[in-house]
Amino acid sequence: MDDRKSVTDQEENGYRGFEQGPIRPPSEAQSLLIRVTRNCPWNRCAFCPVYKGASFSIRPPEHVKRDIDAVHRCLALLEAGGDIAAGPADMEALRAAAHWRAMGMRSVFLQDANSLLVKPRDLAGILRHLRERFPFVRRVTSYARSHTLAVRREEDLHMLRAAGLDRVHIGLESGSDAVLARVAKGCTKAQHILAGQKARAAGFEVSEYYMPGLGGQDLSRDHAVESADALNQINPHFIRLRTLAIPNHTPLFAEWSSGRFQKCTDRMVAEEILLFLEHLQGITSVVKSDHILNLFGELEGRLPEDKPKMIALVRRFLDMTPEDQMLYQAGRRMGVFSRLDDLNDPRKRAFAAATCRRIGITPDNIDEMIDEVMKQFI
Ligand code: SF4
Repeated sequence: MDDRKSVTDQEENGYRGFEQGPIRPPSEAQSLLIRVTRNCPWNRCAFCPVYKGASFSIRPPEHVKRDIDAVHRCLALLEAGGDIAAGPADMEALRAAAHWRAMGMRSVFLQDANSLLVKPRDLAGILRHLRERFPFVRRVTSYARSHTLAVRREEDLHMLRAAGLDRVHIGLESGSDAVLARVAKGCTKAQHILAGQKARAAGFEVSEYYMPGLGGQDLSRDHAVESADALNQINPHFIRLRTLAIPNHTPLFAEWSSGRFQKCTDRMVAEEILLFLEHLQGITSVVKSDHILNLFGELEGRLPEDKPKMIALVRRFLDMTPEDQMLYQAGRRMGVFSRLDDLNDPRKRAFAAATCRRIGITPDNIDEMIDEVMKQFI
């Protein structure tokens, strides 16, 4: 489906009340979530379970502004310590307002999967309204598909930046055309690069997501090298890792179950990340690994100066004994370990080892066990 032909609900009668979509990036946990569109206009990525079965629509700008006004009203009530006699719709706004207030009210995230698909003039109007209601907000961000950014006029992107959109989160996933085609990303490496460069030129902070493991065993090398090359040409402000997991109800699960897709083990993914890091060159991005699915939660640093430190971390894991690798993999996914050094904590190590023994985890079956655990986090 071409994004530009997506269904809109501009003529829809009636306001359904304050709405929240299902997801946001991990870095937006403290943000107020304002739903500008519903679901995903593409919805075909083979690894993505989030919006399958749900149709895309653009919310009327007036409805989005009503949501913003509802939060504004709820904040005023909370501030005054007033008695809140809100209807069910406003209760959702109240919950969102209370959470945002507790988090410091610094940032706003526009949902769902591709807010840039909203007509630029409409989206700019929403952004201005948001900024007017909450002038203290420091950062407004959104997901954006490369496919959409690549076709947006430069003047429209500049208008959105001027209206108050600070950062775009882009799901690069891979820079390999072979991988992108196999997982039906609906985007080529060239489009990713053009989109990232246009977003940067318009003044946005650009946050690109790379998905370790997405190439499977056969395309792992191409995936790492081509993704690094695409990112080298974009020089995004942030490169974020989000490791592949395959939930049962995705098209990729069928490929995996039938043996057509061979998933990488954690060790293979670590080798791929090493190759990826080695190929990142000539850029000043901040690398982050802020997703619970990732093996290395502590993999973080600014390029180029922190590249040796990040590479050393991955090498350290690869040089460990199979027993220690298993303990770390299991402990990390159980939430016992947050960093490699936690293996040296006798209490944490003993707990991880006892749990592995109790549920029968060994170096030979650890990856199967991890696959099941990772599905819980999606
Ligand atoms: S990964 Fe993003 S673009 Fe792809 S189907 Fe999921 S939400 Fe849509």
